[in-house]
Amino acid sequence: MITYRNLDTVIVGAGFAGMYCLHKQIQEGFNAEIFEKADDVGGTWYWNKYPGARCDIESMDYSYSFSDELQQEWNWKEKYGTQPEILEYARFVSKKFNLRKNINFKTSIVKARFINNKWIVETDNNIKIECHYLILATGNLSTPNTPNIEGISNFKGKIYHTGAWPEKMPEFKGRKVGIIGTGSSGVQSIPVISETAKELLVFQRTANFSLPARHSKLPENKREKYKKNYKKYRDLAQNSSFGIAKYQPPTKSAFDVNEDERNEIYESAWQEGGQAMLFAFTDLLTNKEANETAANFVRNKIREIVKNKETAEKLCPNDHPIGTKRLCLDSNYFETYNKENVSLIDISNHPIQKITEKGLISNDAEYEFDDLVFATGFDAMTGAVKAIEILNEENISLKSVWSKGPKTYLGIMVSDFPNLFMITGPQSPGVKSQMILSIEQHVNFIHNLIIHKKNNKYLQVNANKDKQDEWVKHNNEVANATLYPLAHSWYNGDNILGKTRNFMPYVGGVANYKNICDQKIKNDYEGFEFYN
Ligand code: FAD
Ligand code: NAP
Repeated sequence: MITYRNLDTVIVGAGFAGMYCLHKQIQEGFNAEIFEKADDVGGTWYWNKYPGARCDIESMDYSYSFSDELQQEWNWKEKYGTQPEILEYARFVSKKFNLRKNINFKTSIVKARFINNKWIVETDNNIKIECHYLILATGNLSTPNTPNIEGISNFKGKIYHTGAWPEKMPEFKGRKVGIIGTGSSGVQSIPVISETAKELLVFQRTANFSLPARHSKLPENKREKYKKNYKKYRDLAQNSSFGIAKYQPPTKSAFDVNEDERNEIYESAWQEGGQAMLFAFTDLLTNKEANETAANFVRNKIREIVKNKETAEKLCPNDHPIGTKRLCLDSNYFETYNKENVSLIDISNHPIQKITEKGLISNDAEYEFDDLVFATGFDAMTGAVKAIEILNEENISLKSVWSKGPKTYLGIMVSDFPNLFMITGPQSPGVKSQMILSIEQHVNFIHNLIIHKKNNKYLQVNANKDKQDEWVKHNNEVANATLYPLAHSWYNGDNILGKTRNFMPYVGGVANYKNICDQKIKNDYEGFEFYN
């Protein structure tokens, strides 16, 4: 039996984007609800419960700024929040702002159709909701990708994916574990799994750059000092390229200093930990030679850390400029390969042929293990949106419109899909930033559009097609002026078989992007069309 409901706004997803969006809607008096497939809030931090999962941005930055009361009340314990700590924070926020009563857990949105100025939204449990606004807070990294390797169903042991980790932590003690993938999830989980597993086999297709996080507990005095100056730090973050106060735009080229000075700067960034190295010089992401100076510095560090020379060389990335894939931050990642129970298996020239009952075949050899971990990433940026059948008034699906890659206006709307909004969608800087900052900026922008529409009694807001094309072109031009497109990564869909190559994130920086958005509003909502 179908249950029919009426709402002003349906929000899909109860991660940080969905929760802040719901809060804004409720504050404004809208009748809004979230529909979330999980049984709790948190999004990323609900699903990624793998060993070692934590933020790669410092907790004092990776948090909401919209409520000073919240940021003064919450006390981060760790310099980089762990997955449990961030999930606890998300739960705390959901309770503090009384959001849970408006969240439908264990409910997936499967279909939405725009008819007569309304979205008719369908869930997987027979609810049909008629609403004015449909807001996709479905996440950029929320659709786990398990490669379709022959024989996977034959494996007799347990299979895990880092992006859909079970609630109860598996026991790896005394077990032989195989792990596929050396992106951020692999880099974080490999050292921790190696602590208990009897043996750990790491199957590496591509070596990855990783910098030390230099994680520690967050000293109380440091936290309190930050809190006292929160406004200053949040403003600095908004005016930066990456959305983090301490990473302000560099002023010198890598070649404005001599080799010794350059290496000293890299060394101090390496010792400091975090992403500092990438912000050392202006041209690291635009000039291959400049980039190579940083890449080489990191390769030499890997060679210093990893005792076995052959293993060290295999771990040295050579196929992409440093920073053109999301840079990993680690705690003892390279050191882990000095452990007796850890082996690196280079499969760069030998794709996994098949999974067997007891392990997998690559290099024409069978590797046996008890448990298999996929740290193989996500169908990023478009996966969760395309999983919903979204049809416009002409019955055209968003999936078909995006079949050769996503096209959006500012990463917020798609032309011909009125009253449909996305938070940190493709062609916005979300994934290239401290994401909570980008989420807040998008939610505020969308809110502004909705209020403008409501106050003027318009029935629809839509993105102008020409303006959308201009924005996509601009996005590509900005990316093509950098080294980013040189890497094979999820930024351009390379990690998903059959996905058309498109560079998806906006890499012009969060400050530039915010200025552009603010200007659009000042220019009488340039690029947006309102209809009665
Ligand atoms: P999500 O947190 O992904 O939430 C989306 C929610 O939508 C999910 O709960 C999902 O279940 C739900 N959903 C999707 N489709 C449907 C549907 N059809 N019906 C119902 N529900 C649906 N960013 C940083 O800035 N710094 C970091 O250090 C960082 N670390 C990360 C670590 C990991 C392991 C991963 C995977 C990502 C990380 N990110 C990081 C990015 C992270 O995704 C964002 O910071 C942020 O949490 C995204 O919030 P969100 O609400 O947009 O999306
Ligand atoms: P990812 O960066 O896409 O890495 C996936 C890994 O799996 C890569 O090493 C990839 O190899 C490998 N792989 C995929 N398919 C394979 C196959 N068929 N055979 C062999 N290897 C295969 O995914 P991720 O590590 O989950 O990270 C995704 C993003 O989530 C990150 O970039 C980051 O934005 C976020 N994240 C952040 C943190 C954090 O530190 N806070 C932690 C986890 C995730 P190739 O490189 O050869 O494709």
